[in-house]
Amino acid sequence: MDIWEKLAILSDAAKYDAACTSSGVSRRGAGGLGNAVSCGICHSFAADGRCIALLKVLMSNACVGDCRYCQSRRSADGPRATFAPEELAELTISFYRRNYIEGLFLSSAIVRSPDYTMELMIDALARLRHAHGFRGYIHAKAIPGASPALVERLGLLADRLSVNIELPSEASLRRLAPHKTKASILAPMAQIRDRAVQGERELALYRGAPRFAPAGQSTQMIVGASPETDAQILRLTQGLYRKYRLRRVFYSAYIPVGDARALPVKAPPLLREHRLYQADWLLRFYGFTAEEILDGAEPMLDPRLDPKCAWALRHPERFPVDVNRAPLEEILRIPGVGVRTARRIVSARREAPLTFEGLKKLGVVIRRAQFFAACAGGVQPGLRAGREAVCSQLTAACRVPGLTGGEQLSLFDQRPQLLLGGI
Ligand code: SF4
Repeated sequence: MDIWEKLAILSDAAKYDAACTSSGVSRRGAGGLGNAVSCGICHSFAADGRCIALLKVLMSNACVGDCRYCQSRRSADGPRATFAPEELAELTISFYRRNYIEGLFLSSAIVRSPDYTMELMIDALARLRHAHGFRGYIHAKAIPGASPALVERLGLLADRLSVNIELPSEASLRRLAPHKTKASILAPMAQIRDRAVQGERELALYRGAPRFAPAGQSTQMIVGASPETDAQILRLTQGLYRKYRLRRVFYSAYIPVGDARALPVKAPPLLREHRLYQADWLLRFYGFTAEEILDGAEPMLDPRLDPKCAWALRHPERFPVDVNRAPLEEILRIPGVGVRTARRIVSARREAPLTFEGLKKLGVVIRRAQFFAACAGGVQPGLRAGREAVCSQLTAACRVPGLTGGEQLSLFDQRPQLLLGGI
């Protein structure tokens, strides 16, 4: 098999890994320019906010594991391939020289054993870093079950490491990925966390200290293949952020490519994945806890409303928030106010009392905030409406005729109302 055939197989197999921000597009390139399906390029964001293109590929898809939801599992049909380390290094460098990519996202199925797989990956990355002098961004997946010494070596070569948590509970892991255990996944996560802390201390003492995964670690969770609720998923996410210093948790709506006997026939709506990302944002930047966003009484995120609006509607006693007096933490709770906008409000109100007109100029989405904010000039008439009326006005603003509540909007949908700007 030549290198291009391997690339076609292994970049296609990598598309199910969601730890980048360009997954989920289904547009093919027939008859036009470009092809979003088979290109094997994904994007990530550098520390300075720059968007960088990465070659996204697996080292191998010939797995000894048999996770029911995975296309690379041992029992699945389909072509198999494994890069030799020198092939992957050459390929990455030749793409980099042609300016196709600026970095590499490398994951792998388990070839023979976790240690053997990690050695292949380390060999490829070492060639890139040392033989070719490659200084670009590398995101590598650590394989659960590999020895700590190999995780250490991988972390010294990659900018970011990730270990996939895969499923939201141990019971689901036992049922769908029997060779994996929670402990085998959490052990390398803990090692990466501890090593990163140690690396920061060493760097403070000595500027030339080797850098271990300077862009931190992330993980990926499959949503919808197992019965866990959004509340369970968010509590797990919160625990991961608090305990393992993760930079990101990526949610990947289950795609029905696995063993149909053990899995739901239908994929969950992508809107569920989207709402989880919004709730994740609330955990990381808005001071919410998982228990506030969802509790036992409401275990699933409302597909009609973003989680912040849904929380605000359940807590009318917290509103209206006076934007001219309230502390930053309360302003952050107003729907339609982002983190940057909240800071702008706190600084602008020192000059003069803020009105709704002023809020709009600062970037507040008045369509949502009008129901929850008070400022100079009083409150908007919307605030005096009841919960149901506010809820229907908020959902009506986002609804597209012909689409049902949980359906995912697509930029490539041919519905005329979307094309004509009906939203
Ligand atoms: S270990 Fe499981 S999830 Fe990973 S590639 Fe193999 S079958 Fe897929």
